[in-house]
Amino acid sequence: KDRIVIVGAGQAAIQLAQTLRMKGHAGPITLLGEESAPPYQRPPLSKAFMKGDLAEEKLFLKPLSFYENKDVGLCLNTRVTGIDRANKTVTCADGTSHDYDRLVLATGSRPRMLDSIAHLENVQVLRGLEDAKALKARLSDLKHVTVLGGGYIGLEAAAVLRGMGIDVVVLERMPRLLARVTGETISDYFLRLHRHHGVNILCDVEVTEYVSSDDRLTAVKLADGRDIATDLLLVGIGVLPNQELAEEAGLECGNGIIVDEDSRTSDERIYAIGDCSMRPLQGQPQKLRLESVPNAIDQADIVAAHILGAERPGYNPPWFWSDQYDIKIQTAGLFTGHTHTVVRGDIEVGRFAVFYFESDRFIAVDAINDPQSFMAGKQVLKLSIPLKRHHLEETDEPMMSIVK
Ligand code: FAD
Repeated sequence: KDRIVIVGAGQAAIQLAQTLRMKGHAGPITLLGEESAPPYQRPPLSKAFMKGDLAEEKLFLKPLSFYENKDVGLCLNTRVTGIDRANKTVTCADGTSHDYDRLVLATGSRPRMLDSIAHLENVQVLRGLEDAKALKARLSDLKHVTVLGGGYIGLEAAAVLRGMGIDVVVLERMPRLLARVTGETISDYFLRLHRHHGVNILCDVEVTEYVSSDDRLTAVKLADGRDIATDLLLVGIGVLPNQELAEEAGLECGNGIIVDEDSRTSDERIYAIGDCSMRPLQGQPQKLRLESVPNAIDQADIVAAHILGAERPGYNPPWFWSDQYDIKIQTAGLFTGHTHTVVRGDIEVGRFAVFYFESDRFIAVDAINDPQSFMAGKQVLKLSIPLKRHHLEETDEPMMSIVK
């Protein structure tokens, strides 16, 4: 009958509430979220919702009846401002407080912003529903958009904007796109894909000046002398974990709130899950912070099991997806540290997979319009099936039969 208080009302929070109720937790569950919308999915914000293919209500992860039927307290517009660990209570900006037996921090992350231009009215990020609605509302006035950062969110937005006939320039500081999350073959593939669709991708560039007038950005100057006129700057340069609450409460933090295998923080009554947490992962020497829906769901289920005294769910390798134009990339595992790659399929027709190996140990797969390779790779990682490089190099057999 423990009282469970969850800070944040996003992907991880709603998953935890749902799993707790489904598995029989009978005590009170309260979600405290600072946003005004009930828990919603973020992935479509830079995809179908931005394109206009998905109505706002379809973003919501649960109908409002869920909260009533399952007796889950949902407090929106409620920002938690402090944790009193000694008295096991949290306080909120509106003056309310909530006592807990177990507290779960599911505060997510926020986009990095550039302080010098954050105040300009045509500079924005894409994290929440309000950002996406603001961007959608101005789409019809836009002719030239500059995207700062060639990561997944920036590239997804670039694809949608280009599909609407808008001129798009992507500025990437690294020598290649997606450098933090994937290998060179995939970076190169997305570079060619976007160029084929008419997006102007500039890698290895440095911005030297943001030119503005009357609180509006008008152009971006690059170190090589180029001057890019723009109607809007979309900043997609990564996120920071929302860990200040935890830090102020004296919980151990690094690049995220540090947790153990059960997602417990340095206070055994407090857990942290989703984008805000830094967790141990099988096969990884260091704790990592992952930013993905599957990770949020996985950790929520781990915490639910711990609270209920049930066995910890089995290992799930990290996975992720992104949609751009008619391409779906699905990733399982983590590519960092790879020494070899094997490519199967046909890059030219846009259906292939890159398998990453650290020496002879399979560590990750990136599959482009190739769900079979993704699923097989994910299964290999989950079950620790010994998949050797030569297995893939020496045969054209479909992946599913190789890993059987
Ligand atoms: P969130 O869903 O961000 O929820 C955290 C909530 O906590 C927020 O509502 C925040 O406002 C609230 N909060 C923070 N501090 C407080 C406080 N002090 N008090 C009260 N509330 C607070 N992942 C994929 O796997 N695939 C994709 O294709 C994909 N696409 C994405 C596209 C976009 C545009 C974005 C922004 C993200 C995308 N992601 C994708 C990432 C994915 O959405 C996140 O990893 C996931 O939402 C993390 O869930 P979370 O619960 O940790 O955080």
